[in-house]
This record gives sequence, structure tokens and C-alpha cells, in this order.
Amino acid sequence: MLWNRNGRKDSLTFEGVRVVDPGEGLDDVLTVTVERGLVTRLEPASGGNGKVLAPAFVDPHVHLRTPGREDEEDLASGTRAAAAGGYCAILAMPNTEPVVDSASVLGSLAERAAAEAEVPVGFLAAITRGQEGGELTDMVELAERGAAGFTDDGRPIVASGLMRRALQYGGAAGRLLAVHCEEPTLSGGGHVHEGRVSAELGFGAYPSVAESVMVERDLALARYEERPLHLLHLSARESVEALRRAQEAGVPATGEVTPHHLCLTEDAVRTLDPNVKMNPPLRAQEDRAALVEALRDGTIAAVATDHAPHARHEKEVPFEEAPFGVTGLETAFSSLHTRLVEPGVLRLGTLLERMSAGPARIWGLEPPRIAVGAPANLVLLDLEASWRVGEASFRSRSANSWLLGETLRGRVVQTVAAGKVVYAA
Ligand SMILES: [Zn+2]
Ligand SMILES: [Zn+2]
Repeated sequence: MLWNRNGRKDSLTFEGVRVVDPGEGLDDVLTVTVERGLVTRLEPASGGNGKVLAPAFVDPHVHLRTPGREDEEDLASGTRAAAAGGYCAILAMPNTEPVVDSASVLGSLAERAAAEAEVPVGFLAAITRGQEGGELTDMVELAERGAAGFTDDGRPIVASGLMRRALQYGGAAGRLLAVHCEEPTLSGGGHVHEGRVSAELGFGAYPSVAESVMVERDLALARYEERPLHLLHLSARESVEALRRAQEAGVPATGEVTPHHLCLTEDAVRTLDPNVKMNPPLRAQEDRAALVEALRDGTIAAVATDHAPHARHEKEVPFEEAPFGVTGLETAFSSLHTRLVEPGVLRLGTLLERMSAGPARIWGLEPPRIAVGAPANLVLLDLEASWRVGEASFRSRSANSWLLGETLRGRVVQTVAAGKVVYAA
């Protein structure tokens, strides 16, 4: 279930735009008419104005920091940032203060979203009470109250027996479980990927196997319980290989990858910029290559930002003291267009699919599409536009972006979400 404020339905026309919707088999210059929030006409046009109209994006992994840390992000600022990034729907993570682990916390969040959210937002609830890895939440009740799924993101489910029961109860609640795969006695408080750069800098190291061993365990449990499972923010080649093998064996497992893991490697850490510190950490070039390949072949069906706002005073400290996490809603498309599509590594249509229908399908949301009769969930892109990422441009309350000062090519010009114009540059 998704919530947003006021259901105004707009009417507008996109004249002579290149319409790219891989799901509908569309890549043509068309004039697209939207009336009262619905796509009503697609008509052939000539020439084209250089812009691309695509199904708007879906971000299945956002930290809205609400309730509890509204100084970092709130429902209004986070969904305005999503609108500026071309998103028509986002899913928020439950590691808030308090944790979203009861029907009352979820209910009050949903009420606030219905009053404040610019873009439809759904909420994942916690797997365990307080995300403490002990007692399971009441998943059936939370699902009835509208929880989009369950996760303890930020923390792993360490005990295997608990993970097994979570899969069983998630099944009873009819909702997908999403897991942050990290074996804490292997990650051991490490700050960066265990490899060349951690050795050079002498930082505490967080090896790939800390992720992949949990990926393997969770896939084995999902297979045994015959339950679907979603793997959050994959970072390591070994994890991707395990997911691919499980899918080939018929396990209904899915995965997601962040823009930063697709664009950066451990080498970025040499800058000692706290804005390249995230969990899981940036890994080696061969890991990045495996993630890109998995996104291309569909093993990983979704790009997820893991948008994680942090207050300036918390991030502006030495690397080893800084918290994990970076923002991403407002730069996801532009960064991936610049770093992967323009150099010819990934096709535009593939990127658009993995940012929209791909994540929607994983979470059982209606995939955004450009077709007569469909609700208008549209993003207008200017692929030629260059822009410099600066703090002043952010709608997010936080500016801990790994792209500050970078010049990107390709920009979101307009976003229509649930039939309403929510962003116009
Ligand atoms: Zn996580
Ligand atoms: Zn996260």
C-alpha cells in the first residue's frame, strides 16, 4: 500500500518526445496526452524535441529518517527529493526512531504520508522488534495495516533459526522479506572493503565473504522454505554468483544494486571522503563489473538508491568515525546515465527498466507504463543536459552525496506521479 497527499489529477501534453518504454516495446517519437491523470493518447509525431519520456522510476530502498531524525529527512523533503529524481513511488525502510515494528507506529506514519508525501510512499516494517534480532514482529497485523514488506535493514538477521521463522511468518503475512546480508563477526566493525586499499590505508576491513556467506545462507533457507526473498544492496561478485545459481535452481530470489556500487570501487576511498563510506562498502573492480553484468542480464532486476541522509556534523568527521550511507534519490538516473549509458556499457532501455518496472515487479506494485488508459507515472529526461551537482540543488535535507562537485550528463526535467506533476525543473 502506498500513501501520498492530495489526489489532484493533471492534464498535460508532451509534444514530439522520444518515448522509451521497454515493457511496451516503445522507442518512438510521439505526442503523449495526459487527461485528468490518465494517459489518453499516443500519436505519431515527427522530429522530436530531443527529450525522452519514460515510465517514472520506483525506488525500493529509501531511508526517510522519519520518525525520529526529521533534521536529516522527513516525508515532505524525502518525497520532494524523489520527485526531483524522477520517482513516482518509493519504499521507506523501518530503521527509524522508534523502529516501525508495530501497527501504531506504521499507522501514524501512514497518516503523515497521506498529509505530507509528494510522491506515493510505502513502508516496510521490521522483521524483529526494535530490529534487535530477537523476537519477531506481528507480521500479519503489520501487513493488514499496509506494510509493503519486511526488513531489518541496517542490521542482519544473525540467528539462522530466526531467519527461517521470519520466512515462514512473512509467507503467512503474504509479504516479501528483504535482507541486509552481513555476517557481523566477519565484517567486524570494518569501514572499507578488505583488499588493496584497506591494506594501504590501514583501515578496519569488511571482506566480501561477510556478505556472500549470509547471501548463501539466506538463499538456502528461502529454497528450503520455498519462500521468495529479496537481497538488498548487493556489493560482491560472490553474492551475485550465488543469486544467479539460486535463480537457475528455481528459488524465487531477487536482488538490487545501488548507483554507487555500480559506479565506484574501493579506489574512491583513497580520497578519505566520508561520502564514499557506506555499508556494504565499495568493493573491487571485478565486483563492480559483476554487478553491472548482473544488472544487464537481469539477475539483479532493480536499481535501489539506499538513500541514507546524514546530518552534516555527523558526516564531517574523520573517515573512520563517519556513519555509513550516502544520499542518492536526486542523482541516481544522472549518475548511471553518465557512467554506464553514455560510455556504452548499459543500454538506456535496460537502465530505465531496472529503475522502474524491475523494482515494481519485485514488490508487487503496478509497473509504471506508457499506454492509453494507464495512470500517468512519467519522467521527462533531457539526455544532453549537463549539470553540476551542488548542495544548493538538493531537495533532500541532507547533502551527503558522493557526487558533490561532479558534472553529470542527463537530467530529470519533469516528473508525473500518480497523475500529478510533482516536479518541473
Ligand atoms: Zn542495509
Ligand atoms: Zn539501507
